[in-house]
Amino acid sequence: MSAAPACPACDVAAEANLGKAGVCHLWRCACGLVFADRATWRDPYSDKDYYDPAHQPEEHYPLQVTATERDRIATVQRFTQTGRLLDFGGGIGRTALAAHAAGFSAIVLEDSHKAVSDGKTHHPEIAWLESKAIPDSIADGSLDVITLFHVLEHLTDPRASLAQIHRKLSPGGLLVIEVPNWGSHMRRLRGLHWQFVLDHHVNHFTAASLTRLVEKIGFKLGAVEFRRTFAVNETQGWKEPLKQLLCLLGFGDILRCSFFKSAA
Ligand SMILES: [Zn+2]
Repeated sequence: MSAAPACPACDVAAEANLGKAGVCHLWRCACGLVFADRATWRDPYSDKDYYDPAHQPEEHYPLQVTATERDRIATVQRFTQTGRLLDFGGGIGRTALAAHAAGFSAIVLEDSHKAVSDGKTHHPEIAWLESKAIPDSIADGSLDVITLFHVLEHLTDPRASLAQIHRKLSPGGLLVIEVPNWGSHMRRLRGLHWQFVLDHHVNHFTAASLTRLVEKIGFKLGAVEFRRTFAVNETQGWKEPLKQLLCLLGFGDILRCSFFKSAA
């Protein structure tokens, strides 16, 4: 067994090896972050486009915004009603389209060439940037809102990405992050067989460990919310109050935190 790897959130050696999950071991740091050992981890998407039809069902354009994306933007609207919003790792753009429909000036940042080229063709009403990081064309301090829905768990250097996000936001700007919730009772029950322990998830957060990491960058926590599942079930809306009840009991598998960039 190799030595404990350093935590990507705080550089301290991990305190516990949680066992092998897929290609590498998961470790837990004293700061609460659970992470994949970067020395043995391999990105399963390094040589392919995530949205290649060989791996994903083809999308039908124009895209329809669903209750899942409207629910995401409702969290943004709790705090701000207008401005320039960038959806970091925004995929095919449904969340950005929901933001556009709500009156925001919406930008998708996405590294899938297929998602961005299809998006530019079919949805020119939103702006598209094909990149893993926010490019220099977006000036520092020029964004009012940045959202990351199921992105931070994929980033090998979350601290560096959050530092860039902090620079690009205006003072008081809003950051909304949604990730799988390592603190969920479902994760405790399922252990490393939990549905969100996946080869391409390199960071696992609880509300406490996410808040610790993001506040160290220069943000202040605004709100913590939980969702039972990744998506709102549009055809069985009656389930949603039941799912919210399960969240109150600690079975929320999805964690959504809102932060504000502290005024300089
Ligand atoms: Zn740590």
